[in-house]
Amino acid sequence: MRKEKRKKHNHLTEPIAAVIIILALLLSMAVSALGYWEAQHAAKDSAQHAVETAGQFESYRQLSDPLLVLVNAQTPLPEDWEVTPRMVDDELIDLRAYEDYAAMCAAAAKDDVWFWVASGYRSVEEQEEVLAKAIAENQKAGMAPDKAREEALRTIAEPGHSEHHTGLALDLNDVSREFESTKAYAWLQKHSAEYGFVQRYKAEKSAITGIDNESWHYRYVGRFHAKEMERLGLCLEEYVVYLQKQGRG
Ligand SMILES: [Zn+2]
Repeated sequence: MRKEKRKKHNHLTEPIAAVIIILALLLSMAVSALGYWEAQHAAKDSAQHAVETAGQFESYRQLSDPLLVLVNAQTPLPEDWEVTPRMVDDELIDLRAYEDYAAMCAAAAKDDVWFWVASGYRSVEEQEEVLAKAIAENQKAGMAPDKAREEALRTIAEPGHSEHHTGLALDLNDVSREFESTKAYAWLQKHSAEYGFVQRYKAEKSAITGIDNESWHYRYVGRFHAKEMERLGLCLEEYVVYLQKQGRG
């Protein structure tokens, strides 16, 4: 009788105990998820705060890590920059980006997503030709020389100021606005940082980068930095300032 009673007692308490344990577990998971979310936001906020002045690069000093080389309208390609070219899809990219690009393509292929390099390394001379051609076309269309040049420079970087000079920048697939609505773009949004690539020019950062949204242009910064930039929500201009302010330059 006594034994039976105890058994009955266990019948009731065991499920209750299990429910309490599960609830406690769920609560602790929720608390830690909230903590994680808050920490992520705090990291983003403090990073954003630290780089409010990014945008001024008139006398920018490059960081020691070549993967973080900054080239933009105010900042020219460093004079001693060297590219070790590797051929991909009839285009050249720098050796530093080559292996991770290949790894990214292999991973994407497993998801039935395909990339090709439409434009990789470009020398300063090639950039001069591209710009001259665009200016000539604008003049042909009736623009005055000054206007033709100004118009061309809206979409083409000044020679010496294109990120493509580094060999670490890639234009992928169609190089068109439509790329944004492809499966390939969605895949990159989710996975490119895992392979060290970031979408270099995003709409929300155009005031800082000086370049409109380019869904097709990816920049290799290495896996660590790509994940950090994503975690902190920083574009390259902001990220290099952020590292310098932390004394990590
Ligand atoms: Zn590009």
